[in-house]
Amino acid sequence: MLLLNPGPVTISDRVRHSQLQPDLCHRESEYFDLQDEARRRLTAVYNLDSDVWDAVLLTASGTGAVESMIASMVPASGKLLVLENGVYGDRIAQIASQYRISHQVLKQDWIRAPDLGLLARALEADAALTHVAAVHHETTTGRLNDLPGIKAVCEAHGVRLLVDCVSSFGAESIAFDGSIDAVAGAANKCLHGVPGLSFVIARHDALERSVSRTYYLDLRRLAMMQVQRGTPFTPAVQATYALVEALREFEEKGGLQGRHARYAALSEHVRAGLAGLGIDSVLPVQDSSVVLRTYRLPQQMAYAPLHDGLKRRGFVIYAGQGKLATDFFRIATMGEVNHDDVARLIREFKSLLTASSEVRAAA
Ligand SMILES: *Cc1c(COP(=O)(O)O)cnc(C)c1O
Repeated sequence: MLLLNPGPVTISDRVRHSQLQPDLCHRESEYFDLQDEARRRLTAVYNLDSDVWDAVLLTASGTGAVESMIASMVPASGKLLVLENGVYGDRIAQIASQYRISHQVLKQDWIRAPDLGLLARALEADAALTHVAAVHHETTTGRLNDLPGIKAVCEAHGVRLLVDCVSSFGAESIAFDGSIDAVAGAANKCLHGVPGLSFVIARHDALERSVSRTYYLDLRRLAMMQVQRGTPFTPAVQATYALVEALREFEEKGGLQGRHARYAALSEHVRAGLAGLGIDSVLPVQDSSVVLRTYRLPQQMAYAPLHDGLKRRGFVIYAGQGKLATDFFRIATMGEVNHDDVARLIREFKSLLTASSEVRAAA
């Protein structure tokens, strides 16, 4: 079965087999060597200066890293502005509510880009705002939000930026400078590790100003212990083996540029193939990530029969999310997917659509 959903992804055999290594006690040096390699390789993905940036590992899914970042990086006296144009922006707003963090939500239509003029006006209107939270690649629609633009507005207003990069880390460029204090990512999306591990990459100085609103997800404690080759709780050791192997493979295959180019070619292959069958992508290519695209369901077929038909033929695709579920579906090209797989996918789409038209014609 080939997974074309936005994580967890189909992994390589090399990563799969890397989990079958010796059992490790997480209080022994062998585990800390592994943890150090994972943290070092995560900052190396974006060539980050380890004097400025720390990679903090969490045994949690991507949401755990986002929650840890939001709950820890906004000080008690701070106020957060959440940019929402999809499910994941909405999730950040819910996290802020749950922790009673003073915040404001700038809601945008889920199909549209965040309005940077509105962002600037909101920051001007409320001097209490200290932080902005944004989603880089909004997986709801496949939109790559304009991170350089958002950053620039934050810099002009002297506020710090926290970014959910869970579905872009490793495949889309992120300029780690200026207003960025932290980004959250996960092992099992563009990095091709297994589920169970996520991470936050944060500035040391911002970690020093961070607060402790949560016990398990306390980012500062996790960071301070990991820097000193420690860990507060039992980590997902086998998932860490897989992440390290996935990061070695990532580097050997050309790093960030290599992965971006590979995804760009695969997602263009899907787009062109579906366009040939009359299935349109919802966003223009220049607004989309290379990671995932959203398509309009063909007139003759609802999502359930499309999904089930493709699943019988070996592919898992993904429904539209939330209020976009009735009209759209999504295809991600993360993971161990190649052009032969995409060619096969397009053939199976064609055969399903032809079969359903024949059924209709006969009826
Ligand atoms: C997948 C994803 C997450 C986290 O999802 P989990 O199911 O918790 O791993 C968060 N943000 C974005 C943008 C995502 O695509």
